[in-house]
Amino acid sequence: MIISVASGKGGTGKTTVAVNLALFLARENSAKVQLLDCDVEEPNAHLFLKPNLESSWPVSIPVPRIDKSKCTYCGKCAEVCAFNALAVLKDQVLVFDQLCHGCGGCALLCPEKAITEQDREMGILETGKSGSIDFVHGRLNIGEAMAGPLIRTVKERIDPNSVTIIDVPPGTSCPVVESVKGSDYTLLVTEPTPFGLNDLELAVGLVRALEIPTGVVINRADLGDLKVKEYCEKEAIPVLSEIPYDPNLARLYSRGVAILHREEKYLRVFARMWSLIESRVEVESQTKSSGAIVSGNGHENAL
Ligand code: SF4
Ligand code: SF4
Repeated sequence: MIISVASGKGGTGKTTVAVNLALFLARENSAKVQLLDCDVEEPNAHLFLKPNLESSWPVSIPVPRIDKSKCTYCGKCAEVCAFNALAVLKDQVLVFDQLCHGCGGCALLCPEKAITEQDREMGILETGKSGSIDFVHGRLNIGEAMAGPLIRTVKERIDPNSVTIIDVPPGTSCPVVESVKGSDYTLLVTEPTPFGLNDLELAVGLVRALEIPTGVVINRADLGDLKVKEYCEKEAIPVLSEIPYDPNLARLYSRGVAILHREEKYLRVFARMWSLIESRVEVESQTKSSGAIVSGNGHENAL
């Protein structure tokens, strides 16, 4: 089962929820657990899990190089490139490496076989263990624009025999789509503020477009207003958990300590969250297999 943990904006507590859900499962669930940190621009799940990193590989994508002696400047490579990474001039082909996704389409379709490929390193993949949790994350090189290929490489490590928790980059752009697609369920972590609501609405639009069932976790739930809850009610999106503001949690966060490493009382929060996720995923899979139309009831109630 793949559970992605996302948020429309940064700073909502997304990584806290992802890390502690993984810790809860590792303690209380018999299944193997993986945590994949796909927030490759700013990975920080390792700060809480402190994994013993055992392996590290450079991650590269193949970018085109043009053999001028063969090129006829026909323009076909630029036509086929969906990412505008090539521009064919009268006597020159410009390659914008930072835009190239390494799909290989241009080399395949060049009629003169004038394109070869050269690896361009964009980041690293690291794997290790944190207790019984299999840990994987990617680190994008500084200044690198393209997170997608590195996120795909991180996701290649998904073990179908594990429960996989994915820490998704914040926002609603391409790296988020790349990270959440293929998930059985997406948890959206938000806060009860106008900014939280605005970004939650965008994130809900994204996961709905991808047809991924979703539920909401409201962090620092007692600090803001009720508009996030009212929105979830109106949209029939289940609120799986409301985590109140707790200065102890803020202190632990600032020291890079996971909640469940210190605050046992929060076990029940993640136990209930997991129980609701499991039952939602079960309902969705039964609904899909029976071919019926899915509709959430939005009334899981808060903790
Ligand atoms: S498709 Fe091949 S021959 Fe045509 S412009 Fe591109 S590199 Fe040159
Ligand atoms: S490899 Fe794909 S993305 Fe890169 S330049 Fe060629 S067609 Fe464009």
